[in-house]
Amino acid sequence: MTNTQEIKLQPFQMHKNLYFIGNEDVSVHLIVTEEGLILIDTGFPEMHDLILNNIKSLGYDPKNICAIFHSHGHLDHFANTQDYAKLSGAKTYISRIDNDILNGKRDLSWAKEMGLKPLPFFDCDVLLEDGDTFTFGSTTIRCIHTPGHTEGVMSFIITLDDNGDKCVVAMHGGIGLNSMTAEYLTQNGLPLDLREKFKEGLKRLALEDVDLLIGNHPEQTRTLKKMVKVLNGETDLRNKADWPEFLAWNKARVDKLLKSEEEEKAKTDAGIAGV
Ligand SMILES: [Zn+2]
Repeated sequence: MTNTQEIKLQPFQMHKNLYFIGNEDVSVHLIVTEEGLILIDTGFPEMHDLILNNIKSLGYDPKNICAIFHSHGHLDHFANTQDYAKLSGAKTYISRIDNDILNGKRDLSWAKEMGLKPLPFFDCDVLLEDGDTFTFGSTTIRCIHTPGHTEGVMSFIITLDDNGDKCVVAMHGGIGLNSMTAEYLTQNGLPLDLREKFKEGLKRLALEDVDLLIGNHPEQTRTLKKMVKVLNGETDLRNKADWPEFLAWNKARVDKLLKSEEEEKAKTDAGIAGV
């Protein structure tokens, strides 16, 4: 039996043609399709070689990447995109809204908050809208706009079809509360109702019948636990209970944030009234 405490995340097969290839901090996923390799997100700058080596260690050639999808426009999800697209000729995809972060129209990449240099600006090739669906051989990727963490977060419903054995994989494109606090939103000229929109997104996602939950940060979707299961010989990580549980957890997290802000405000108001 392998213990989760002793082990670091390493690339592993999540389901048939879907692999985790990120690190402990940020997820990157690889989907192997008849039309080429698909990446979901490209990690931090320092993950550049790790991701390429992980693809090679699984037996694939990074030159065969045909598509790079992005969950949202924060630097930890797109730092290596330009280089990977250059080496492979891959098409790049992000929401139309968050593309304005990549091309520098809006300074919201979170680079300064992470103490990183902003990247050279670029535009993605395909600007995603809610409902867009893409087919790569027997794999389809459907985009659901779920704003909150950024205005242009895209969640992905990915259907893998192995000779009729379908697996619906879902990734929420951004759940971090760091960019949903009233303080952050106000400082950056973003609307406070992004938190309500986030909750609406959770409701929409709850309509999906999902077999396998993945996430863009490993700790948010118990990726290490999944890897340990695989190392211990489990070959099927599908669990329909994970998705509704994950969505409910997120609703509770954002409700807690809103409540604590209300309480803070009430205290401040009472303080002012008492002066
Ligand atoms: Zn983010």
